[in-house]
Amino acid sequence: MIICIIIICIIGFYFGFPWCILKAMRYRDSLGFSRGNKIALTFDDGPSRNTDKILSLLDRYSVKATFFVTGSKVKRDVLEKIQSRGHAVASHGYDHVNHWKCFPWRAWKDIQLGFKAIEDFNNRPLDQWRLFRPPYGKVTLFTLLYLWFKRVKIVYWTFDSGDTWENIPDVDSRMEEFIQTSGTGIVLFHDLYYPDTERNNYVFELCEKVLKYVQEKQIKATAL
Ligand SMILES: [Zn+2]
Repeated sequence: MIICIIIICIIGFYFGFPWCILKAMRYRDSLGFSRGNKIALTFDDGPSRNTDKILSLLDRYSVKATFFVTGSKVKRDVLEKIQSRGHAVASHGYDHVNHWKCFPWRAWKDIQLGFKAIEDFNNRPLDQWRLFRPPYGKVTLFTLLYLWFKRVKIVYWTFDSGDTWENIPDVDSRMEEFIQTSGTGIVLFHDLYYPDTERNNYVFELCEKVLKYVQEKQIKATAL
C-alpha cells in the first residue's frame, strides 16, 4: 500500500510539477504582457505551404512574429525567408513528440534534434537558441530539468487561436474572447497547411483581425 502511494506521488510529481510551472509561466506572461500593453504572435509546427501567406500578412501590418519550427520540416530557404524579414525562429522539437507519451530519452533526443536542425541551418551553437515551445505544451520533470540545465527558455502561450481544435471556432467570437482576455499576451497560431480550406482561412482571417486590432489599439507587437 505504502509503495503504491509512493509510486503515485512520484508519477504525480514527474508530470504535475512541470505542469504547475507552465501554468505559472502562463499567468506571469499574461500579467506581464497586459501591463506592458504587448503582444507576441507565435506560429507553431511550420514551415508549411502557408508560411508565405502568413509572412505576407505580417509584412502588411509591419509586425514581427516568432516561428516555432518543427525540426523535421526545416528547409533552409524558408527559414532564411522568415529571418530575413525580421521574424524569430525558435524550436518546437524535431518530430513534434508529446513528452508525456514517450520515454524520457526519446523526448530528450527530440529536443536535441530540434535545436540541431536549426543550428545546421544557421551555423549557430545551441546556446544561442534559447527558445523552446514544447509540443502540446507538455514537459516532464526530466525534460524540464534538461531545458533549465541548458538554459533554454520555455515559451508557453496565453491565448490559443483555436485553429487546431476539433470544431473550428467562429472567427468573430474567438476575436471577441481575445479582446475580453486583455487583447494582449502570447498568441498561439499554427503554421500548418490543413486539407480543408475553411481551417486555413480561419488562421488567416483571425490573424488579420488580431493584426488590425493591434494596429488600432497601438499595442506593441514583438518577436520573442
Ligand atoms: Zn505543435
